[in-house]
Amino acid sequence: MNTWRLIGNTRAVDALAAAVRDGSPARSYIFAGPERVGKAAAAVRLAQALNCTGDGPPCLSCEACRRIGEGKFADVHTVTIETSGEGPAHKNISVEQMRDVEASVALSPYEGRMRVVIIDPADLMSDGAQNAFLKTLEEPPPHAVFVLITADTDRLLETVRSRCRRVDFGLVAADEIAAGLVERGVAADQAAVLARLAAGRPGWAIEAAERPELLERRAEALDAARALAGMSMADRVDRAGALSDAFKRERAPVDETLEQWLGWWRDIMLAQSGAIDAIANVDRRDEVEEDATRFDRADVAAFVEALRDTRQYLRENVQSRIALDALVLRAPRVRAGAR
Ligand SMILES: [Zn+2]
Repeated sequence: MNTWRLIGNTRAVDALAAAVRDGSPARSYIFAGPERVGKAAAAVRLAQALNCTGDGPPCLSCEACRRIGEGKFADVHTVTIETSGEGPAHKNISVEQMRDVEASVALSPYEGRMRVVIIDPADLMSDGAQNAFLKTLEEPPPHAVFVLITADTDRLLETVRSRCRRVDFGLVAADEIAAGLVERGVAADQAAVLARLAAGRPGWAIEAAERPELLERRAEALDAARALAGMSMADRVDRAGALSDAFKRERAPVDETLEQWLGWWRDIMLAQSGAIDAIANVDRRDEVEEDATRFDRADVAAFVEALRDTRQYLRENVQSRIALDALVLRAPRVRAGAR
């Protein structure tokens, strides 16, 4: 557990905490790193530390800390993709949204000391939005701090990147995640399993501990990953159609499914190279070992690559149907002679 009582990424968080303590936080940050490793949680802690009225900011118990934690503090604002009842209303964070940010940070803080604007995911700002934001970044008001959260810094304009202090977040060791879960009241044996399944992402582990349906969704995704390999081409294409329709309604669950598939086939690859003890899906070890004998190593490796690429394509807004069709057709087929 680090200074800010977050799980993992101790170096990154301790450096942030020190900057706040010394009164030298940057005006704008990029928090870079994989999904669900704690970037957004650290951004909230930073906002709390900058506005805390208690001892040892962030105290997490004063009015400001509590309300920021609940997302109810007027001076702390997260900019994200606007959604309508039908799912995402836009593919990008728009120029208009960034103009609203510019207007709001020009005002003095309403109830705290600092206005904190968290842009998440910042890589989904359109180029126009980034350019509109640039003016604010170049001359930030003295009472404003910006945090750009991204798993993909390459999608940020160089002009934006160069004006931010970058903080890198990484995957977190399983034992650190397990300890963090126990600290949050999860039973030790359950914490150990969730920590392994989380594959380095404490955010997933915390949510899975709170919401059992996440584990059910994972089980379904893994069953689907296995089933796909046994399907005819026609059935695979139907499956791609269903995924594409789901993706158009809401992106996150489809990305989560592909992430589970990726985790599954990565485990098969590990088992095939004799590293069964390193697999993430520890509760399904027997099935991983079984599948390791049923598929060609080259096919598995190619599909792992295809899964990575497809998740990236979908982030880049390529036509989801085309990308998913291409993906399912590349799923390994059971080797001749294997059961
Ligand atoms: Zn506080």
